[in-house]
Amino acid sequence: MNTKLSNDEIRIVTPDVKWKDITRGGTISEAANARLFKTGDWRSMKPVWLQEKCKQCLLCYPVCPDTSVLVNEEGMMTGFDYDHCKGCGVCAKVCPFKAIDFVEESK
Ligand code: SF4
Ligand code: SF4
Repeated sequence: MNTKLSNDEIRIVTPDVKWKDITRGGTISEAANARLFKTGDWRSMKPVWLQEKCKQCLLCYPVCPDTSVLVNEEGMMTGFDYDHCKGCGVCAKVCPFKAIDFVEESK
């Protein structure tokens, strides 16, 4: 059974929508659509990159469960994707050069 839906077929839930018109839960409309959901606002703590201390070892990159450590085309770490970082702190924990501070979100 082909259950692939286009984004137009994903129905927006409004107060007046009937239950039969709601798109079934768990539907994945297209590959990598998780990036459309900005889940960074779940965060209470955030990593802060201290560029002057960073040695570009990239140990922080593979440990991030949200692919939120940003690496450019030259393979250089450039900061964080705060739209998706959940503030787990793993990147700060593994950085051997203390180049990632981990602070309260409001700071
Ligand atoms: S682990 Fe630390 S030093 Fe290595 S790239 Fe990440 S921030 Fe830079
Ligand atoms: S705090 Fe966690 S989610 Fe955010 S960039 Fe670091 S490892 Fe990724």
